[in-house]
Amino acid sequence: MITLKEALTLSKDELNNFKEELKTKIETNQDLNAYIDLNSVGEGVPIAIKDNIQVKDWSVTSGSSILQGYIAPYNATVIEKMLQAGLSPFGRTNMDEFAMGSTTESSFYGKTQNPHASDRVPGGSSGGSAAAVGAGVAIAALGSDTGGSIRQPAAFCGIVGMKPTYGRVSRYGLGAYASSLDQIGPMTQNVEDAAILYDIISGSDDKDSTNAQKDDKVVPNLDPSRKLTIAVLPKYVQNASEDVKKAYEKAMQALKAAGHTIVERELMDAKFDISAYYITATAEATTNLARYDGIRYGNRVEGKNLEETFINTRSEGFGDEVKRRILLGNFVLSSGYYEAYYVKAQKTRHIIKDEYAKIFENVDLILSPIAPGVAPKFGELSNPMDMYLSDIYSISVNLAGLPALSLPIDKNEQGLPVGLQLIASAYDEQTLFDGALSLEREINYTK
Ligand code: GLN
Repeated sequence: MITLKEALTLSKDELNNFKEELKTKIETNQDLNAYIDLNSVGEGVPIAIKDNIQVKDWSVTSGSSILQGYIAPYNATVIEKMLQAGLSPFGRTNMDEFAMGSTTESSFYGKTQNPHASDRVPGGSSGGSAAAVGAGVAIAALGSDTGGSIRQPAAFCGIVGMKPTYGRVSRYGLGAYASSLDQIGPMTQNVEDAAILYDIISGSDDKDSTNAQKDDKVVPNLDPSRKLTIAVLPKYVQNASEDVKKAYEKAMQALKAAGHTIVERELMDAKFDISAYYITATAEATTNLARYDGIRYGNRVEGKNLEETFINTRSEGFGDEVKRRILLGNFVLSSGYYEAYYVKAQKTRHIIKDEYAKIFENVDLILSPIAPGVAPKFGELSNPMDMYLSDIYSISVNLAGLPALSLPIDKNEQGLPVGLQLIASAYDEQTLFDGALSLEREINYTK
C-alpha cells in the first residue's frame, strides 16, 4: 500500500484510479469486516473514518443499533480540516459500540478480524481502522482514544497509532464517550504519516471549549537525530507477557544504539489506574448517553407513552456492555456513593498526573507497554473484568491527558505483531514524533 506521504503527490486521475482499485480490494476481502460502508467525499487522498466521527450526510452510528438511521447534519472539525488539506473521508470503519471495549467484538456490525490471524481480535475500540490499515486496505485512518482505543489496536495490527495531548484535536463532531478523556488521532503505516495526519487534524477550534487553541506543527521540524533522555519502567513491565518483555528489551537496546540516554523510573501500581479510569469513564458515559432516548436521534421503539418509548428504545438499542457501563456510571454518581467513588477517582487522577509530571521534569519520553500481550483470540476477553484489566498499560495516559504513540517493535513466534508506546509530556508532540521516528528507523520492523 502506498504511504500517505506518497499519496499526497498523486494527481486527481491517479487518485480516482487508486480509489477504484481500493474498493475492489476491500470487496474481495469482506471477511475482514473492517469497513461498515464505502462512502466517499471529495477527490482527495482517501482516509478511513471511525464510525463515531461525523461526516456530513453520512450515516454515523458509533457501532450501535440505537443510532441506525441517523444522518450526520455537519462535518466534525477534523473532517473540515482534512478536506481543506486535500484528504477525502473514505469509508466508515467498525468499532466497539460507543467505543466501549478493547476488541471490537461489541459492534452492531459483527466482529472485525485481525489481519495477521483470522481467529484473533484486531483490538479496540478502533479495530476497524487498525485492521484496514494493517491489512493494506486503507492508506491511513482516523480513530479515537479514550483509554487506549487508537494505540492498542494499532499494536495488535502492526501499525502506528497516536493519541494527541488532550485538547490538541477538536472533539467537535466526535460521538462522545468520556468527554474529559476522548481524543481523535491518526492510525497509519509509519511514524512520518502519523505526523502528517496529526498536523492536518490538530489545531485551534472555537467549537470545542476544551480545545487548547494551539497551532504549532511537527512535520516542518521533524528531527530523528535529536538525542533524548528516555525513561524505562522495569517494574511496571513485569506484569506483561514474555512477548512484550522481549519487545521492550529490544526497543530499549535500539534506543541506546540510536544514541539516546536510558534512565530507570517507576509508575505506581496500575490497578489504581483501572479503578480511576472505569469510574471516570462510566460516569461521563452515562451522562453522554442520556441523549439517546429515541426522540432526537436514530432508532425509536414506540411504547404506550413517552416513558415507555424511552425504556423500549434504550432497552433494545443498547448492547450489554453499554448497559453495564450506564449502570456502573449511575451508581458511582449517585448520592451516598459520589464521594466514595467519583471524587476519589478524580483525586487519584491528579496523583497520576503529578506522577507523570515529576518524571518529565528530567526526561523527554517514557517507553511503556501498551497492552499486556499480543492480540487475544475471539472470546478470550468475554469476562468484562478481564477486558477492563487488559487496559492496564493504556489508560493512565488518558487520565493524565498526555500524548502517546504506539508503534510496531517485534513479532512473536506465531508472527503476531507486538507494539510499544512512547509517552511525552503535555503538548510536546514534537519530541514524541522525533523519538518515535528515531526508534522506528533503528528497529526496522518488517510487515
Ligand atoms: N478499552 C477502554 C474502554 O473500554 C478504552 C476504550 C477507548 O479508548 N475508547 O473504555
